[in-house]
Amino acid sequence: MNGTESSGLRVRGRFAPSPTGRMHLGNVYAAAMSWLSARRRGGEWVLRIEDIDRERSRREYAEQLISDLDWLGLRWDGPIEWQSRRGEFYEQALRSLAEQGVVYACACTRADIMAASAPHQSDGRIIYGGRCRPAGMPRQSEFPAGRHSVRLWVPDREVCFVDRNFGEQRVNLARDCGDFIVRRADGGWAYQLAVTVDDALMGITEVVRGEDLLLSAAQQIYLFELLGYAAPEYAHIPLLRNEAGERLAKRDRGANLDELRPKLTPEELLSLVLTDEDLADWRRLR
Ligand code: GLU
Repeated sequence: MNGTESSGLRVRGRFAPSPTGRMHLGNVYAAAMSWLSARRRGGEWVLRIEDIDRERSRREYAEQLISDLDWLGLRWDGPIEWQSRRGEFYEQALRSLAEQGVVYACACTRADIMAASAPHQSDGRIIYGGRCRPAGMPRQSEFPAGRHSVRLWVPDREVCFVDRNFGEQRVNLARDCGDFIVRRADGGWAYQLAVTVDDALMGITEVVRGEDLLLSAAQQIYLFELLGYAAPEYAHIPLLRNEAGERLAKRDRGANLDELRPKLTPEELLSLVLTDEDLADWRRLR
């Protein structure tokens, strides 16, 4: 959906970090760019902690994240949402998908899947080969007993959208994404489902985040459609790279706020990732 302003909707952006480590410069960049985008358009900006992965998420990282954002002058509106507390909404969405007959139980292990599929050419993503995909898709209100994940059946169809930075995107769901998981075998909610339900229910009108999630946008747009919501506008931003040209990751020494926050002011830190123009807007809008 383009032209949020013309449709009269108030712009509402968000930052949705996973608390699996201390913030690094890549996260600071994504947070600042989404904050700037919303604030420049007079919009709201909300914070959602994506702590559904219980093994990798830690409360202390979430608290540091919140403190780092506050210190950076990137303040959010309203209460902070925590995905770990939103299970009932994901449950409802799954029920709706099951009633539409577009999800099925999958008992494949990771090893089964690796053995049966070739990695996607562009990003190494594994396309599910469809071993558990039923021939017909009955509406179902219950899944069989036993350990299994739940997968969304995707059609052989293109999703088209215009990314504000990367331009027109055409993604064939079956070829480029494959049937994807909405609930994991351990009962945990999958990222694609949780993020879509939350962006929908939180009234998000624009998503500004790293380029690594560009392909995921197509999966999310398809889920928005199935769940009966309008998709937000997308603006993916290029990932920051270190001097060796590698994607900045949590392990890069010197690029994380443990190291940087004691040595720099918020403005000095932001100047490492923002242009002068963006920095001037941050000063004006904070
Ligand atoms: N939680 C995801 C991450 O930290 C971002 C999700 C999103 O912005 O859609 O990588």
